[in-house]
Amino acid sequence: MSFDFHFDPDEQDFLAAMDLHRRHISEEQMRKFEGDIAAIFGAFGLNLNTPATKDTPQRFLRALFDATEGYEGDPKLLTVFETECRGGPDCRLSQVIEGPIQFYSLCEHHAFPFYGQAYIGYIAHEHLIGISKLTRLVRLFARRFAVQERIGQQIADTLEAMLQPHGVAVYLAAHHLCTQMRGVRETSPLTHTTFWRGEYDGNAELRAEFLSMCGVQR
Ligand SMILES: [Zn+2]
Ligand SMILES: [Zn+2]
Repeated sequence: MSFDFHFDPDEQDFLAAMDLHRRHISEEQMRKFEGDIAAIFGAFGLNLNTPATKDTPQRFLRALFDATEGYEGDPKLLTVFETECRGGPDCRLSQVIEGPIQFYSLCEHHAFPFYGQAYIGYIAHEHLIGISKLTRLVRLFARRFAVQERIGQQIADTLEAMLQPHGVAVYLAAHHLCTQMRGVRETSPLTHTTFWRGEYDGNAELRAEFLSMCGVQR
């Protein structure tokens, strides 16, 4: 097994799948944003004239910027392992399943957090990826203004472009604070989403095996 960068005709698909937006925010813009946030927080009830809160707008903006750093990309994500097709000469299918991978995101409808766990399965062909890279991949898409469905789709699209596997499965379960903190929804605080690509699409047995490995009862 060698350890090297892998670029091929799918590189364009890979870059497109990551959907990056490099951010350039000037000091002047930041000062203006701090004033805007101070005005909102102040009007909504926060006393900004205490030692604990006078820098809150600045800290809030910094934290928000960091929590959305997924738009910037992750250069350490590019490495994949070259390997033989694990299916052997006949490409027999066997799953690699990783999880739980904890993630934190911001819902694009309310800009409130949602957070939970991701499980990723794939059926390797000639490329493998380690659990640390899968964690980076989940973070790349979670640390944005997002919706749970899109995070799962983007993970699946990017893995397909990176690894050209026989199939990809993604399961996400998350708590959405935009509903929970406002008491809109009383029951079932977990939202579940699944994504199937390649062999998983037409193979109920593979899907059931994946979900049982994720601890989901069917
Ligand atoms: Zn929301
Ligand atoms: Zn294969």
